[in-house]
Amino acid sequence: MKVLVPVKRVVDYNVKVRVKADGTGVETANVKMSMNPFDEIGVEEAVRLKEKGVASEIIAVSAGPTACQEQIRTALAMGADRGILIEHDGVLEPLAVAKLLKAIVAKESPELIILGKQAIDDDMNATGQMLAALLGWAQGTYASKIESADGGLKVTREIDGGLEILQLKLPAIITTDLRLNEPRYASLPNIMKARKKPIETVKPADLGVDVTPRLTVLKVEEPAKRQAGKKVGSVQELVDKLRNEAKVI
Ligand code: AMP
Repeated sequence: MKVLVPVKRVVDYNVKVRVKADGTGVETANVKMSMNPFDEIGVEEAVRLKEKGVASEIIAVSAGPTACQEQIRTALAMGADRGILIEHDGVLEPLAVAKLLKAIVAKESPELIILGKQAIDDDMNATGQMLAALLGWAQGTYASKIESADGGLKVTREIDGGLEILQLKLPAIITTDLRLNEPRYASLPNIMKARKKPIETVKPADLGVDVTPRLTVLKVEEPAKRQAGKKVGSVQELVDKLRNEAKVI
């Protein structure tokens, strides 16, 4: 089974994100960038499927600027076999990414695509679902467990109030939740080996996809600063403040 794993380059989760002075977006210049954490979980799951003999080849795909090669290399060092960079400078909305991935699917014919449930920059939580709709494939979102069963995949997904188990027919789309696995660190020998693995570069136009944004960002603002809290000495004082100062009871 060929597995496609889309990996997005995002601001590292340890970085305190700052809004640009002109309010057009967040600062990304001189900021540490990494693979979206949910995509690391996706790569790890694909590698585990390969180790179990379920997956035969893993292709890591990233859409964005040339620097996305770094995230593809990380995926290759974790165990992916080859990479595809869809090179584009500028905004790529989830629908555009889903269309680009659909075009890659037409070229590569994978049976499984493992995306992150969301990218931690825009928190869109949309690309996997849009891609499933465009392809007409089965989808198991927010997966916390994946097993091969009955010629397809059994996916346990985290939903409000519990766990839901789906039996998916292939080809299928899965989006990863946090508890699916703990991604491995790439070892030095594997980082060295990854340098020799191939990365193909294509442009959206080569794939016949128009990625012109459909949304306009009007303004990005910092959330309002939180007021400092107050410590109270007793329950009586708390009730008094809630009643007479905050006037909420
Ligand atoms: P989103 O819908 O933007 O929250 O992203 C969900 C998932 O779609 C991510 O975790 C990635 O697996 C994939 N994805 C989104 N944008 C890109 C991109 N530019 N390149 C590769 N994968 C992406």
